[in-house]
Amino acid sequence: MKTKIQEKFRSLFGEDGQLYMSSGRINLIGEHTDYNGGYVFPGAINFGIMAEIKPNGTNKVKVFSIDFNEMAEFGLNEEDKPKQAWACYVFGVCRETIKRGGKVEGFNAVFAGDVPLGAGLSSSAALESVFAFAINDLFGNNIEKFELARIGQSTEHNYCGVKCGIMDQFASIFGKKGALMRLNCKTSEYKYFPFHPDGYKLVLIDSCVKHELASSAYNKRRESCERAAAAIRENHPDVEFLSDAKRLWLEEVRDKISQEDFLRAEYVIGEVQRVLDVCDALERDDYETVGELMYQTHFGLSRLYEVSCEELDFLNKLARKCDVTGSRVMGGGFGGCTINLVKDELYDDFIKAVKEKFTAKFGHAPKIYDVVISDGARKLQ
Ligand code: ADP
Ligand code: MG
Repeated sequence: MKTKIQEKFRSLFGEDGQLYMSSGRINLIGEHTDYNGGYVFPGAINFGIMAEIKPNGTNKVKVFSIDFNEMAEFGLNEEDKPKQAWACYVFGVCRETIKRGGKVEGFNAVFAGDVPLGAGLSSSAALESVFAFAINDLFGNNIEKFELARIGQSTEHNYCGVKCGIMDQFASIFGKKGALMRLNCKTSEYKYFPFHPDGYKLVLIDSCVKHELASSAYNKRRESCERAAAAIRENHPDVEFLSDAKRLWLEEVRDKISQEDFLRAEYVIGEVQRVLDVCDALERDDYETVGELMYQTHFGLSRLYEVSCEELDFLNKLARKCDVTGSRVMGGGFGGCTINLVKDELYDDFIKAVKEKFTAKFGHAPKIYDVVISDGARKLQ
């Protein structure tokens, strides 16, 4: 990837620039907790986007995407938004940097990546983060790292039409080899935890399905959580988000909210606790407990929060049958990947079973991604 980028940069621009890299991410546990003010627990992975960049002394950006084999050229004013969707991520990062008082001048860039697009590994955050980090460094802006993540998030909101939370960009910017990060979505406090699953592999199984329900169901889940939190707040005024509530406090309002809202809230309150339990287990290097908690999350997402689907439940059941240590749906649900923690010696049999049985049942093969927790945004060399 590096050589390809360097050759392309030289052939297009006749010189060399500076190389930067950023990564996609996984989330080990902590799903649908972000908008409830709870914890998420992501890490950056060994799939990323690399970019070579150099200021060009003009007020125009020329950026070439190797994967789309396409050049985009744009100015740096609000009305200069490029027509290529991929280039809007780069443009958005420039604009959001400028909005924060940062200096951005014209530059040349070439980039390529290996984060699968739209598979739930957040290729878009990798793209935003590599440019946010590079621009900050090249133009000496000294914007602090959390704000670089916010630049990526605002890019999605304002230039790409995606109202995302902060987790993906946070993970991509702050990621560290051998460490997961527990982010408190209410306070933005975060803490690194060691993740060295020696003797285990972390593997994602992409069901390659996306059910249409996703966005309307997402809004409905949010509303359920807000109603449950409001009911609890009547007894406990300090409860700002559902994640502030204790299980017992939910019990107190069982008769005041619908059965459905109750189940949704039960999942969220349980999930916030599970993130804390996983962190404790990691400090003891207890990956069997981590795995068991992953299964509990899957159960919650499937039966209480009801955001799973036939394909994902099938993969989860199959993982249990193959003695996989931990398995759960990752991401918003209704399709996408499961994340699995598998003992080395069981890995081959599990993957073989997944490929054969999933394909036989659903008529298409799943995709397999072996991931390793790796560094996030950085300058190369
Ligand atoms: P994901 O879940 O992977 O973030 P998104 O739909 O949010 O999926 O973002 C994917 C979009 O990000 C692509 O359609 C493209 O515009 C941009 N993108 C991601 N990776 C690349 C890449 N390697 N080259 C060019 N554009 C990319
Ligand atoms: Mg994305």
